[in-house]
Amino acid sequence: MEEVGTGLLDRLDAMQRVAASAPGGPLLIVAGPGTGKTRTLTHRIAYLCAELNVFPEQCLAITFTRRAAEELRHRLDGLLGPVAEDVTVGTFHSLGLTILRENAPAAGLPADFRIADDADRAAARAEAGEDDDRYATLLRKRDLVDLDELLTLPVALLKGDRKLVREYRECWKWIFVDEYQDVDAVQYELLRLLSPPDGNLCAIGDPDQAIYSFRGADVGYFLRFSQDFTDARLVRLNRNYRSSAPILAAAVQAIAPSSLVRGRRLDPARLDPEAPLVGRYAATSVADEADFLVRTIDDLVGGLSHRSLDSGRIDGRATSLSFSDIAVLYRTDSQAAPLVDALARANIPVQKRSHDRLRDRPGVTAIARELRHAGLDGSLTARVRLAGQILAERFAVPTLDGSGAVRPEDVRTAVDLLTPLARRCGDDLGLFLAQLATGAEVDALDPRAEAVTLLTLHAAKGLEFPVVFLVGAEDGLLPLRWPGQEPDDAVAEERRLFFVGLTRAQDRLYVSHAARRTRHGSERECRPSPFLDVIDPGLFERFGDTEPRRPKDRQLRLI
Ligand code: ATP
Ligand code: MG
Repeated sequence: MEEVGTGLLDRLDAMQRVAASAPGGPLLIVAGPGTGKTRTLTHRIAYLCAELNVFPEQCLAITFTRRAAEELRHRLDGLLGPVAEDVTVGTFHSLGLTILRENAPAAGLPADFRIADDADRAAARAEAGEDDDRYATLLRKRDLVDLDELLTLPVALLKGDRKLVREYRECWKWIFVDEYQDVDAVQYELLRLLSPPDGNLCAIGDPDQAIYSFRGADVGYFLRFSQDFTDARLVRLNRNYRSSAPILAAAVQAIAPSSLVRGRRLDPARLDPEAPLVGRYAATSVADEADFLVRTIDDLVGGLSHRSLDSGRIDGRATSLSFSDIAVLYRTDSQAAPLVDALARANIPVQKRSHDRLRDRPGVTAIARELRHAGLDGSLTARVRLAGQILAERFAVPTLDGSGAVRPEDVRTAVDLLTPLARRCGDDLGLFLAQLATGAEVDALDPRAEAVTLLTLHAAKGLEFPVVFLVGAEDGLLPLRWPGQEPDDAVAEERRLFFVGLTRAQDRLYVSHAARRTRHGSERECRPSPFLDVIDPGLFERFGDTEPRRPKDRQLRLI
């Protein structure tokens, strides 16, 4: 065993090793992007099991998305072998679901309760009107649980049952939470119930990547970890293994004005003197920006035979570029349409994902209902496809008043979205439906798909790509502003979002902005994002238009 343990930690740097082998008790790992948080987390679990006789079933690892959970599970499999299956890995919602399933009667639920889908919620809402209490009662009567209740019900249950709290604390003695900076009030409450103040809670995250306050996340929980948990140990990871030195330098400068980490440091592990600068393209229009994207992707992928981008790479990454190496990131989902069109015209395959909940897509809900009600045969993927066909035919004929109808293209998009998820669920329909109800679109990302990945900046959190295009880096989009909003509102969080975007890139990063863009129904002139102003111009290589034209003052006031 000892050799296994020692060998394990050999693959970590000195600080990662300190974090992975820290003794029990509360542990906060503050670490910037690309510093190996996931690697450290998996190695810590493996180390504890191999060296400290911790049982895998005593470990609970909570991640932000299901996709991240799967990645974690995959890496644990590699380190621990089959016993990795005994580690509980999931999102907060799946944790809540587990607790509710295990205690359904105590929570006043039947064993076969179900998570309410769109149609269930709409029906209950129509009956209950504005009356939230009544709404909950209706759901309960129908043996349904709303998404938020997957967290609020377990919290209420545990709060009223100290014995149950003791049992869970006994069961999950070691708790790990990734992306702790984006924990919200109810998730925090659940953690405090599951972990005593001096428990083995390991929280990992980066306050400078807190980007979910619009959903109720509060970075304050991260910042006061050592007040909440007794004698918390703090470990910082500062070495970035992901990005080339110019990309990292640009990112560090970009976050500096809003950094929440005192003395923030991010040192590049990659020091290739040939690393390309950050590409910057001043497009004249949105169409021109899309054109730049297509041209550059064509160049990068088409130029494979004579181009090698692997100089200075580490950790055995791929040596040539394919579509799956490329991501296009933007602030709002509505920016994707012209890009998708332009890429499709150039025959470049794409997969587009947002951070929205899967169930909020009309086609997804329809497919979920069809799977539940129609007794379809075959594997789960075949059933999803079949349900899609049935629905596409049904909705090809528009209903007279147009109400309640799903467009056939919505169904097709949903089938594309759900197929990789269905494949990963094996033939477990219950698991698949639970994932549809709780998951985000980005959970259905297929990292191996031979396609360029289009993502909102929020959805890109935690991911990395050899090539990243950050498009629409314009004032009004980054930071995002909408009519009537004060200019300073939420700028710090927007800057963190920009930082998250820049730090997804490994080898090549392109930032572009258009001089004109239609937003809120009218076309207007745009200035480049003020976030670009704090980056040393020497880190950029400019393409296209030399200097972006300054718009006239008149248009500036329109935003
Ligand atoms: P983020 O904040 O963006 O989620 P992270 O800290 O979770 O980032 P990881 O995704 O775990 O970062 O790691 C970033 C990259 O660095 C990965 O490709 C990982 O394999 C690599 N890496 C991490 N640690 C090391 C190491 N000690 N040696 C070599 N490569 C490493
Ligand atoms: Mg990570």
